[in-house]
Amino acid sequence: MLDQKETIKVVADCRNDKCGRVAVLTVELEKLERWMKGENIKDVFPNLTANEREVIIQGCRGNYYLCESCWDLLMVEEEE
Ligand SMILES: [Zn+2]
Repeated sequence: MLDQKETIKVVADCRNDKCGRVAVLTVELEKLERWMKGENIKDVFPNLTANEREVIIQGCRGNYYLCESCWDLLMVEEEE
């Protein structure tokens, strides 16, 4: 039997039109399904960064993704 886990690519477009960056993250299908069934994303993907988890959430459920660079820009703007 193969021990290799099935993986799936999650894709999220940055919502900043000027940026156009697309984030792609490969995750184990089994874990993605666990999260979709209601498990806490931090428990299912403890090794991912907050931004990587955001790719999963927005890639699967929404369209409000901001890539890391644009997120930093937003933070700077809000400080002013
Ligand atoms: Zn961006």
